[in-house]
Amino acid sequence: MEEKTIQIAGSITVDELSKALGLSVTELIGTLFKNGIVATINQRLDYETASIIIDELGLKNVKLERKNTSTKTSDFRRELSDKAVTRPPVVAVMGHVDHGKTTLLDTLLNKKTVEGEAGGITQHISAYQLKHDDRLITFLDTPGHEAFAAIRQHGAMLTDIVVIVVAADDGVKPQTVEAINFAKSANAKIIVAINKIDREGADIPRTMADLSQHGLQPEEWGGDIVMVPISAKKNQNLEKLLDMILLTADIEELKADVDIPAEGLVIESHMETGKGSVVNLLVTGGELKTGEFIVAGSTYGKVRTMLDWKGKPKGKATPSTPVTITGFKELPNFGDRFIEVKDEKTARKMALLNAQNIANESASANVTSSDLLRMMNVADNSKTFNVIIKGDVLGSVTSVVDSLKMIDTKGEITLNIVSTGVGDINENDVYMAAGGNTVVYGFNVSVPINISKMAARDGVPIRTYRVIYELLDDAKHEMENLLDAEIIEEDKGEMKVLGVFRTEKTSIIAGGEVLKGDAKPGFLARIVRNKEFLGEAEVTSVQKEKIDVKELTAGETGGLALKTVSKIDLQIGDRLKFFIRESKKRTL
Ligand code: GDP
Repeated sequence: MEEKTIQIAGSITVDELSKALGLSVTELIGTLFKNGIVATINQRLDYETASIIIDELGLKNVKLERKNTSTKTSDFRRELSDKAVTRPPVVAVMGHVDHGKTTLLDTLLNKKTVEGEAGGITQHISAYQLKHDDRLITFLDTPGHEAFAAIRQHGAMLTDIVVIVVAADDGVKPQTVEAINFAKSANAKIIVAINKIDREGADIPRTMADLSQHGLQPEEWGGDIVMVPISAKKNQNLEKLLDMILLTADIEELKADVDIPAEGLVIESHMETGKGSVVNLLVTGGELKTGEFIVAGSTYGKVRTMLDWKGKPKGKATPSTPVTITGFKELPNFGDRFIEVKDEKTARKMALLNAQNIANESASANVTSSDLLRMMNVADNSKTFNVIIKGDVLGSVTSVVDSLKMIDTKGEITLNIVSTGVGDINENDVYMAAGGNTVVYGFNVSVPINISKMAARDGVPIRTYRVIYELLDDAKHEMENLLDAEIIEEDKGEMKVLGVFRTEKTSIIAGGEVLKGDAKPGFLARIVRNKEFLGEAEVTSVQKEKIDVKELTAGETGGLALKTVSKIDLQIGDRLKFFIRESKKRTL
């Protein structure tokens, strides 16, 4: 059968989907109806719902694909032309709280900015530039890891180099790991600054060993990560750190085109009385000039004023330059991409289009998969399978999540994705999974030794895979384990009670005749008197003429020892209906 791919930008109407599938609208609405959804032709379905329905229809040749509609991401990492010029590296300083990020940036600023200039800088700045060896380096003040995660999701590469600050007297901590993960997922080069080496407890080799456990192998030990021991406070070895930043930039051959319309990212925005929107931008390509029109997300404007990071007017900003501008009609969001357009009309039109796309992505799907699942009656007694998904890149995390959601659990198991993330499995994942009956899956990531020890101690299952189907099989297996087993009962025979020799609290000894089938130790028995069910018992032994035997068959008389849960007052004439009960594991 011919393969068919349907692209879904946020959501799709019933009408569009039926056309794409080559089905009649009625047929599609019928299938929706069978699944509990009363839909109209114009109803919008989200990606997940559409995939579930396609699955329901058994259309194996149809592939759904999420289409990205946001202009934020499209062609962001453009191909460079041969006219591209060298640009300064964009560096983010990240690390665990109190390990010295602020001190490092402060010391660098005081040291590197020309006397008299630095004194005036007291307001919060989100980016700035230093000169080292007569070359510029752009530093971004880290606005919090969540914000970086947002940028990462938009697929934009903001930073070329991440300097990870680790205190030599404290070692790798959760936020250090996060920083490592961020840097890796953003495809940024990592340089480690081992800080506070002036401290008494500083232990550089131990810190390096700690880092290598987290996948960063020091160059000195044959690895590929530059680690520079520094004291941010005492201004030791900072020149070396800057040398290493420039060296890395050289190796990376960081370049940008300048003869294209200006583009870049919004790195901060706020309102100021008298000025309106004040927006910090990082130019990543082209040259931004005052008077030009730019669009970011659903807002646009004309660059009215433009200042450099020190607050001095700037007429033109080249790639890797942070600037503060006024002129946006409304505040753009952190992480939004901006682009220069030729005139106000185009700017307005594009912003409107972006606004529609954004609305489409988030709000317009009026049937979501969770509604669908609810309507399909993932009954209240459904069981929950908790997972944490880690992957090497965002794309792999998304496809693992999407594929997991596609596993048909017959409505009996609810998949609960506790968290997802990019990077190796870390302490946080284990914390989150502990005690919560949660499986941590890693796709193309590794588990540092200390983390697997921690997980073993806390009883957290960690499974890493390099092949997605194996991961899915494992998850399916886990979900099957959650399914209630199927109980099968099979009738085995019947006995009429002819004598009751002893009835105690949990045991009975009686005799009788087997009317049909047979009686064997291990069988269960329903005790019935005139069709009334009195209770259940288990046959523990069978005797014939006071000798233990393996069985009594139809027509034979003999004695039975029975085990009961509570006392049953067995009487002559009662019937014992023998059966066996098996539980059978179910599969999905
Ligand atoms: P941040 O939370 O990572 O920004 O850390 P800070 O820069 O605020 O530093 C936390 C504390 O560590 C402050 O008291 C700093 O003075 C101190 N500190 C930072 N770097 C050094 C260093 O190289 N040596 C010593 N002895 N203390 C430092």
